[in-house]
Amino acid sequence: MREIVLATRNQGKLREMAEIAEPYGIRILALPDDVEMPEETGRTFLDNARLKAVHGHRMTNMPVLADDSGIEVDALRGAPGIYSARFSGPGATDVRNNELLLQRLRHATTRQARYRAALVLWDGEREWSAMGTWEGEILESPRGKGGFGYDPLFYVPELGCSAAELSPEDKSRHSHRGKAMRMLCSLIAERL
Ligand code: IMP
Repeated sequence: MREIVLATRNQGKLREMAEIAEPYGIRILALPDDVEMPEETGRTFLDNARLKAVHGHRMTNMPVLADDSGIEVDALRGAPGIYSARFSGPGATDVRNNELLLQRLRHATTRQARYRAALVLWDGEREWSAMGTWEGEILESPRGKGGFGYDPLFYVPELGCSAAELSPEDKSRHSHRGKAMRMLCSLIAERL
């Protein structure tokens, strides 16, 4: 088994990525507790994923995988994008972000949106990257109790439900991060 450190503090992501990676012969390890995450100062999802992967490698001397993700809403010209986690300002929470999103879309004529995820793996010499997207529409009120972030407002027409109404396995099968992770694993499986 090849071993890769995942630069995240999110246990849910760690579990999801580890499950996807295992069949490819890749074991995902948690970032050691004493490693601080850098500030996300990039201008794109890919920039932010790269700066976390490079920093993680510098601190651990291991191959490090990092991700960055968010939601782009057409009626808001792609916002909140890379600012998805902090959309409602300092002290932002999922609930406040969702409330603000609904408020901003009160008069919108389109509710089309997409999640995007960028993944970067850096082993000190080589970089691999993959992107994933997931198309949907912003609901007028929340639905479902699963997932996190904008999932209760993210309706997936092809499945007829919100992302928060999916089991973790089904979400991973369809999600931006799941798609990007499977692509990255198949890229690196034979070469790392
Ligand atoms: P990060 O990739 O952990 O920095 O996440 C950025 C933010 O994007 C999260 O805090 C959520 O607000 C949003 N986001 C990213 N992926 C998802 C998802 O799968 N479901 C819901 N919200 C997400």
